[in-house]
Amino acid sequence: MREILVVGAGQAGLHLAIGLLQNGYDVTVVSNRTPESIRDGRVMSGQCMFGTARAHERALGLDLWADVCPPVEGIELSVPAPGGGKALGWSARLHAPAAAVDQRIKMPVWLAEFERLGGKLVIHDVTPADLEEYAARYDLVLVAAGKGEIASLFERDAARSVHDAPQRALAVTYVHGLAPRPEHSAVCFNLLPGVGEYFVFPALTHTGPCEIMVFEGLPGGPMDCWGDVRGPAEHLARSCELLATFFPWEAERCAGIELTDANAVLTGRFAPTVRHPVAVLPSGAPVLGVADVVVLNDPITGQGSNNAAKCAAVYLQAILERDGLPFDAEWMGRTFERFWSQAQHATRWTNALLAPAQPHHLELLGTAGQVPQIASRFVNGFDDPTDFSEWFLDADKARAYLDQVAA
Ligand SMILES: Cc1cc2nc3c(=O)[nH]c(=O)nc-3n(C[C@H](O)[C@H](O)[C@H](O)COP(=O)(O)OP(=O)(O)OC[C@H]3O[C@@H](n4cnc5c(N)ncnc54)[C@H](O)[C@@H]3O)c2cc1C
Repeated sequence: MREILVVGAGQAGLHLAIGLLQNGYDVTVVSNRTPESIRDGRVMSGQCMFGTARAHERALGLDLWADVCPPVEGIELSVPAPGGGKALGWSARLHAPAAAVDQRIKMPVWLAEFERLGGKLVIHDVTPADLEEYAARYDLVLVAAGKGEIASLFERDAARSVHDAPQRALAVTYVHGLAPRPEHSAVCFNLLPGVGEYFVFPALTHTGPCEIMVFEGLPGGPMDCWGDVRGPAEHLARSCELLATFFPWEAERCAGIELTDANAVLTGRFAPTVRHPVAVLPSGAPVLGVADVVVLNDPITGQGSNNAAKCAAVYLQAILERDGLPFDAEWMGRTFERFWSQAQHATRWTNALLAPAQPHHLELLGTAGQVPQIASRFVNGFDDPTDFSEWFLDADKARAYLDQVAA
């Protein structure tokens, strides 16, 4: 039986590890956190996942919260007008609902499922020296350590990385008591050029259904303002102040909010980076990077967990197809390219939204307010960003699409 080791018990690592177990592989997961420390720890993400990624989970029997997690049925886009009110405000429904299950709930349950299926869990903070040992012992070593330090073993791909510095100051706040939208549920995506973005959506956490608020402040701007915040209560107060200042219609929904728990807040920043997929250890042994380790995008478009599930699905298929042949560096490179053929679109679109809007973006998003077909296409691109290359990202294609819609 082929033996595979996965570093990291997160969205991609556990998805892949469980898929491999279900297909008869001998799988070890090394995690630097116990299930209890994940469960009782700080929130890690917003993790809103769309139809395609959820279908990959469902295929392995891993979409375990579909009945209890409040669905995200659409996406709303709002841009404030200079004199007050909205310059832009429209919404559209997703073809398939999205869902955001707190990773503090999900990962411990997936770890239990992994062990129930016969997987071996080792609690250890993996070092580069450990990887040498693993590579000598296992047929394949996969590094799914997210933003962990060990990802730096994988060299930055300068040709595919647009940024070398953080593009947003990030903050997350999980709350109860936020007033629902009067229409269908949605990710409410608010965008203020020169300041940043705020999005909020229903989710499931330890204490039941909640809403997750995500703040994306331009570095050095007024929403890059978390450094002096002391403790969760101040974090919640700062969240409300920002909404009152920049997105008053969202502040109105927050009159009765409270934190879901003492670990319900997070701040940070990181540079979006694409890395070379194979790290060759001093011995010459190759190890393969997975998901965020190799394609780390800013969360502005909510693609990270989705990419992680898509990466796990691609890698799982490639491993099964490999049959008894060695998992050499050449196979690793080819396997990553299969994932990149999808992920590059999410990366390109994410980087486009991080940059100041182009005139054709403004025209498309403005016209979407009158033409539901455009709004629907934009909203459903969150599930499959491949489509954005066909109309949104390229000025000529945008023109052709607008002409076609007008005709
Ligand atoms: C503010 C914010 C909001 C977000 N919102 C969304 C969203 O709405 N939708 C979406 O799709 N994505 C979102 N994301 C991104 C998403 O959470 C990640 O992209 C996704 O979890 C990546 O999965 P992964 O498996 O690559 O890494 P992770 O899920 O981060 O898992 C990595 C695991 O490896 C472990 N590890 C690290 N180093 C080591 C080591 N040396 N040894 C052993 N174990 C190690 C870590 O403890 C962790 O458990 C958001 C992220 C942030 C920061």
